[in-house]
Amino acid sequence: MATVKLENIYKSFDETEVLFDINLEIKDKEFVVFVGPSGCGKTTLLRIISGLEEATTGSVIIDDKDVSNSPPVERGISMVFQSYALYPHLSVFENIAFPLRVAKINEKELEEKVFKAADILQLRDRLDFKPGQLSGGQRQRVAIGRSIVRDPKVFLFDEPLSNLDAALRGDMRVELAKLHQNLKTTMIYVTHDQIEAMTMADKIVVLRDGVIEQVGSPMDLYHNPKTKFVAGFIGQPNMNFLRTTDTEIKKNKLFVSIGELNLELAVDVSKTNAGDEIDIGIRPEDLGVSSSGGIPMSVDVVEHIGATVILYGSVLGDSNFCAVLPSDSVIKPGETVSLVFDSSKCHAFNSAGQALKKTHKKK
Ligand code: ATP
Repeated sequence: MATVKLENIYKSFDETEVLFDINLEIKDKEFVVFVGPSGCGKTTLLRIISGLEEATTGSVIIDDKDVSNSPPVERGISMVFQSYALYPHLSVFENIAFPLRVAKINEKELEEKVFKAADILQLRDRLDFKPGQLSGGQRQRVAIGRSIVRDPKVFLFDEPLSNLDAALRGDMRVELAKLHQNLKTTMIYVTHDQIEAMTMADKIVVLRDGVIEQVGSPMDLYHNPKTKFVAGFIGQPNMNFLRTTDTEIKKNKLFVSIGELNLELAVDVSKTNAGDEIDIGIRPEDLGVSSSGGIPMSVDVVEHIGATVILYGSVLGDSNFCAVLPSDSVIKPGETVSLVFDSSKCHAFNSAGQALKKTHKKK
């Protein structure tokens, strides 16, 4: 069993403040992903958990034991980095066995552990190869194997797939998810790729400028983002936003006008006034095309990707609009289409970027 608790973590490098009051509880066997834009502090937080970096203040608690002042080797964790850091002159077997040789484990036990890890990672037929004879995905699996043989309580991954091409990343995502199911160990994974976060995580921690913006399951963040930042970060293609000050409040409901369209939104309006600036968020996959009504979209680019058609273009002067339509949609660049959507699918954000809570039943 391995739970991880972070309490009031702050981190500064000299004058530069990087993390602010991080509080987080990670359950036993949970797959938790730290996600956020470059520089938001993901790696620093992971390094603080590992003990490679010390928090300026705050505590790291693993299995109810405060390890804030313990060196990495005493924390029962193992870290896999973006660069595989394999020894090029050693075989795959010896690379995986390396931490066991350092620990002077007897040969029989060492072999058993290496073979077991190689079986889990499907590397059994590559054990005599050198790293230079392996693909990028296989090399990353060797690096993971080196972690597995140490039998850690917690695995830490720092952007392990970012050196791989898109196809291999897809395969490795599935392999890591399977690995988690097989090993049933707590895993903490850092990425800036929201697709990795959505597909692998039990729990996503969205970081922004050193602060936790929101914690939740992938679908909770998708359906109920608490801020415009999370709404724009989670989901692919990104959520569309339309700004309006044409806002009214009647009978505890928000009425907004966007172009010719009048929307009634069931959201908490207790802190909103008529005329307030509101950003309406609508996901590309929640849009449809109608022969009449709706809002006009001037289409610049049409992408046919098989199962769907993706339109890129402008809506009411915003040139970053995107709509995902069924594959049989026949639309050409240069056309203007009329976009429609169900107002219950819309999100509303105030001028501070905070979501107005939906008052109808949550998904
Ligand atoms: P990326 O996705 O680009 O790896 P990240 O979210 O992992 O980014 P960190 O690597 O944790 O971000 O860095 C957070 C901030 O801390 C950055 O502004 C970075 O410049 C700063 N930082 C990190 N390590 C140090 C250091 N050793 N000395 C000074 N500043 C540092």
